[in-house]
Amino acid sequence: GLFDAPDAPESLKPRPPVVTIMGHVDHGKTSLLDAIRQTNVVKGEAGGITQHIGAYQVTSPLGGKITFIDTPGHAAFTAMRARGAKSTDIVVLVVAADDGVKPQTAEAINHARAAGVPIIVAINKVDKPEAKPEKVRSELLQYEIQVESLGGETLEVEVSAKARTNLDKLLEIIQLQSEILELKANPDRPAEGTVIEAKLDRGRGPVATALVQRGTLYQGDIVVAGSEWGRVRALVTDQGDTTPEAGPSMPVEILGFNGAPEAGDRIAVVENEARAREIADYRTRQKREQAAARAVVRVSGLEQMMSQIKVAGKKEFPLVIKGDVQGSVEAIVQALEKVGNDEVGVRVLLSGAGGVTESDVILASASNAVVIGFNVRALKEARDAAERTGTEIRYYNIIYDLVDDIKAAMSGMLSPERREDFLGNAQIREIFAVSKVGKIAGCLVTEGVVQKGASVRLIRDNVVIHEGKLATLKRFKDDVPEIRAGTECGMSFENYQDMRAGDVIECYRVTEVKRTL
Ligand code: GDP
Repeated sequence: GLFDAPDAPESLKPRPPVVTIMGHVDHGKTSLLDAIRQTNVVKGEAGGITQHIGAYQVTSPLGGKITFIDTPGHAAFTAMRARGAKSTDIVVLVVAADDGVKPQTAEAINHARAAGVPIIVAINKVDKPEAKPEKVRSELLQYEIQVESLGGETLEVEVSAKARTNLDKLLEIIQLQSEILELKANPDRPAEGTVIEAKLDRGRGPVATALVQRGTLYQGDIVVAGSEWGRVRALVTDQGDTTPEAGPSMPVEILGFNGAPEAGDRIAVVENEARAREIADYRTRQKREQAAARAVVRVSGLEQMMSQIKVAGKKEFPLVIKGDVQGSVEAIVQALEKVGNDEVGVRVLLSGAGGVTESDVILASASNAVVIGFNVRALKEARDAAERTGTEIRYYNIIYDLVDDIKAAMSGMLSPERREDFLGNAQIREIFAVSKVGKIAGCLVTEGVVQKGASVRLIRDNVVIHEGKLATLKRFKDDVPEIRAGTECGMSFENYQDMRAGDVIECYRVTEVKRTL
């Protein structure tokens, strides 16, 4: 995609690491973030009070800058990742020495791993008499985290946010880890970044805190984020000062948006207001279309009987489960709860021992659920009710068969995996208006190959302004199936005419692969 288009290696300069602190509730994430922030407060007239903008930057004792995302918890981290924004370079995993590894510690480890982000372990609250840092270290082994003092590779430090112990050491370790990662970005290009927080401020209007990820953002730049845009009226640092510019890894508040974007939205600088408006409008339309597409539910086979209730994006498979004894019902429920993933899952509306009753069926029909009878049958009234309401009752006597069936049905609810294969790039040199046909773009294929019927993205000033299909491909007067790099050609696009000279056309193939649970 656009954001992944690499900068030339010689343009890259070292940049500070971006760090997110994660860990179990009450283990001291907020305290640690506050304590670290205070290591760097500029002692000014305001008595060193800094404002919270969602991220801040400090200088480590070794001299390097470090950016902390000041919205603790993996919720924000994962929300951003879900939108494709890789905003964190290093995760600091906070574990309280008096409490040890807890469920959210494990979750944080999983989230960091899923994102491929290295973890630094900060064992917190070591000032407490009941602190057992050794126990934390050994507990972490169960999650395949082996800290250095146990012969492993994971960097670690014992800290106390409260007593302000070893904060400098933590910053040093972070810098060390970041040097291993060799983080770099090109500062000399139009800025791109990610929205960390955004709000509507009564006095200042929409305010977005952004992390600049490459390029440099200047006051006066025209920016687009999600479906919002604006001219940068002012840039405000985490110290509350205005700044004329913000480079890679620098968090900054942007004033001047016409509306508040969303956390996780990507920010890009564009050439002028007209372009910004065009992109924002396109994205607004796209958002509407996507919402409409999500509402369309595809059903087939067994699923025909099942509603696909979506709660917070997750498809649910509603079931009423009746079995001969409570023990087997519990075993079934447990087995079924393991079947789903973050896209689909079972929802047990009711479970219990006994035959399938009329009231079970009515309950199921209200939610379009399927009724499962395990080693039990439906009573006459229940069968009649099922007939009347079109509710399906399925009988099983082997748990394995039951789980397998439900798994297969739920796999049918998974949206296919969409794979994108890059084909080539072309640049529009000239636009020709051809009577009856419409506009034809005269292009030079600059990389790879372009193919008729393939998917295309029109990119203007580094921003995607249209996604669609390549309708016709011509070499002189002839229709051709494909054209390779170095050759000129004529292109037209399905339902799109607003291309211009200078636009880049990215050509790619999309394949959909059916997934199973
Ligand atoms: P969070 O939920 O992870 O953000 O945890 P907090 O930062 O809110 O801390 C939870 C509690 O632990 C608060 O009462 C803090 O004062 C306390 N706490 C945090 N760090 C330390 C520490 O290093 N030592 C001690 N003794 N208490 C701490």
